[in-house]
Amino acid sequence: MKAVRYIEAGRAPEIVDLPKPIAGPGQVLVKIGGAGVCHSDLHVLDHGVGRTGPFTLGHENAGWVEAIGDGVTGWKEGDPVAVYGPWGCGLCRTCQTSAENYCEGHARSPAVGGGLGLDGGMAEYMIVPSPRLLVPLGTLDPAEAAPLSDAGLTPYHAIKAALPLLTPDATILVLGIGGLGHMALQILRAMTPVKIIAGDIDDARLAHAHELGATHTINTRDAHRAAEEILDMVGGRGVAVALDFVGAQPTIDLCCRVVGRASRITVVGLAGGILHYAPNRPPYGCQVSIPYWGSRSELMEVIALAEAGRIRADVEKFPLESAADVYQRLREGRIKGRAVLLP
Ligand code: NAD
Ligand code: ZN
Ligand code: ZN
Repeated sequence: MKAVRYIEAGRAPEIVDLPKPIAGPGQVLVKIGGAGVCHSDLHVLDHGVGRTGPFTLGHENAGWVEAIGDGVTGWKEGDPVAVYGPWGCGLCRTCQTSAENYCEGHARSPAVGGGLGLDGGMAEYMIVPSPRLLVPLGTLDPAEAAPLSDAGLTPYHAIKAALPLLTPDATILVLGIGGLGHMALQILRAMTPVKIIAGDIDDARLAHAHELGATHTINTRDAHRAAEEILDMVGGRGVAVALDFVGAQPTIDLCCRVVGRASRITVVGLAGGILHYAPNRPPYGCQVSIPYWGSRSELMEVIALAEAGRIRADVEKFPLESAADVYQRLREGRIKGRAVLLP
């Protein structure tokens, strides 16, 4: 089978031929229907993931059960599934609550899973080490649903934790309306009455944000001016939640400038910015959150939202063989919504 492989940091991914894997005891072999192309892959390709390659990329996967290993029960060939991405030990306290994204065994380096150090889903087939890491897709098409497992789940987890602040009289600032951001807007619309200001440096993304229900959009290329405009919009109270899907210095600084008292700054993007602290800046009472991905049961909730027609990834499909070109497009900001590779 063809697979898109990470080789080492700083090197382009390679497409190679590998034998079809065989499900060992306790494992499940999944036939991939779609593998989402996440911006995190660019960080992995550039800087590595703390594990040596090569390994198959693709940590946002959905498909069908192809075969089950000895001892696996409850699944049968052909069942449509989403693959839960952050693979924990399955045994520690947080894994037992289904939050394998915060597995205590992986405290130093959370990036363990298919496509993040182990073989992922940019291939025809993928081994999933345990059936507990599969979530039924119901009526959803795997190629359309693959992004739910990261671009959907990560914002869902971040938003759910901020729900008490997302009241009808409050405003959230969402920065970076790409793969994760365009899902965040839909999740906010489905779950909260909050007013939404969407920010990006690309006007096409802002038009997309408008279609997805943002109350206001703002180009944040001039971050200083954007901060003033946002503060004018929300008045002295400031923004209740700032949700940053970029995580660069200008976006983190912008979040700190516009949030009010007793607010929340949630940084999801991994662009390497630093959050500086000084007394009352960010303002007193502000919570800072750095969520990672989401839990298994939250993935079930995300899939339920999609099945109910409340959220839908805007998917651009490409053949697996075009992976290198798709990564280049993503780097240049030329993907609307989420790119999905089809084997
Ligand atoms: P993407 O490339 O699809 O979207 C990024 C968006 O940010 C684009 O619309 C781009 O125009 C915009 N942008 C870039 N620089 C900006 C700036 N200075 N100000 C405002 N907008 C800007 O990326 P994605 O796949 O949605 O991922 C977003 C980030 O989230 C990445 O850093 C990724 O690694 C990270 N991520 C984190 C987690 C987590 O669990 N913490 C999970 C998945 C992805
Ligand atoms: Zn990702
Ligand atoms: Zn664990």
